[in-house]
Amino acid sequence: MKWQYSGGGQKSEGELQRLVETVIQADDFDKSHFTDYSVKRELKALDEHNTPVGIFSVKDGWKSGSVKIRLPKEDTMYASESHAPEFEVHGIWYRSLISIIKSADEDTTQKHFHNIPFKLFRRASSDTELEDLPSGDSDSERVWADLYTSDALLEEQEKIDALPRNPEDDETVEYVIAPIMGYSDSTHLTSFGTAYLWPFYTWIGALSKYMRAKPSNFAAHHTAYIPKLPQLIQDFYHKTYGTAATLNIMRFCRSELMQKVWDLLLDTEFMHAFKHGILVTCADGIRRRLFPRFLTYSADYPERVALTCIRFLGRCPCPTCLVEKKNIALMGSKRNSAGSRKSRVDDESTQGLIARARSWIFERGYRLTSKMVERILKPLSLLPTRFMGSQACRGSCSQGDVQ
Ligand SMILES: [Zn+2]
Repeated sequence: MKWQYSGGGQKSEGELQRLVETVIQADDFDKSHFTDYSVKRELKALDEHNTPVGIFSVKDGWKSGSVKIRLPKEDTMYASESHAPEFEVHGIWYRSLISIIKSADEDTTQKHFHNIPFKLFRRASSDTELEDLPSGDSDSERVWADLYTSDALLEEQEKIDALPRNPEDDETVEYVIAPIMGYSDSTHLTSFGTAYLWPFYTWIGALSKYMRAKPSNFAAHHTAYIPKLPQLIQDFYHKTYGTAATLNIMRFCRSELMQKVWDLLLDTEFMHAFKHGILVTCADGIRRRLFPRFLTYSADYPERVALTCIRFLGRCPCPTCLVEKKNIALMGSKRNSAGSRKSRVDDESTQGLIARARSWIFERGYRLTSKMVERILKPLSLLPTRFMGSQACRGSCSQGDVQ
């Protein structure tokens, strides 16, 4: 008690009780551990400890990764892009998407999951039997409520149902989608200053929105923290090329960084599961082969632009279609109905344009905004950055049937 009432006045009754019960009376408490003890030294060791603790715990699947960005410079030519100097960005914290899906499906909350998508209807009159309700019946009305009642998920499920079954699975194994809903929003942590976070979260769309949206259910999974381009890149660029990186080069690097972080997330494990599914014994005791699919992604315009590698408010400013800026005012009119708009697709011809632009930048030393590069990229508001989603897809196809 003398210790309690001497020194600082911040020690509460509860904390004293905790000290006695969890430390002094602990079975493994040994006085000799404190020989030569220094608080300062221990705190320093904690600071320098490499194993992530707290929110970035290895136990929760957090990994620390790094990515490399190739640095171009005008009038500097390389035999190929892979010969250009690269800058490494360290300390990217992320979690494996597969471990998130597995842990969500093994958790007791899984019992509330709707693994099989369905169409939901409401009846206007209570006399109608549910079985008698054809869609389009005037007495029935389709209800759009959750991801698992959407056409998008129903269509994806049809594709999975059409896949040949894995010969190793017995017939009781259900083939279902693990619908992922992504969300990211960069935030400034202070009103003044530069403290900043760019977290990326995922939700499992098989859970009702009423449960997903309840903060006390902890249904959001922290998935990654996208870092800012470190200031060191300028020093590195200066050391390599003897000049500072231009604004356009920095913009290019920022765009590359975002895609490289996605490359970390869409790793071989994820792409293998995307193609072949992962076998999980879910919390309800049923074995399922889960196929991860991104069904939604929520972000503001600047992030959607960064994610889809297009120009901010360019000639075709929409991340999903090729509507021209001058025609945006026609939106909703007959002339510009959804059917007449061309979707933005990361197809081979788009990838070809980007590959050509990159070869000119790295192999011929063209400026990022040179006439030649602009001529092929500007019409579709593209950037000379490869969209990593398609990279990963191609990677999985070339892997073949690795089991
Ligand atoms: Zn659009």
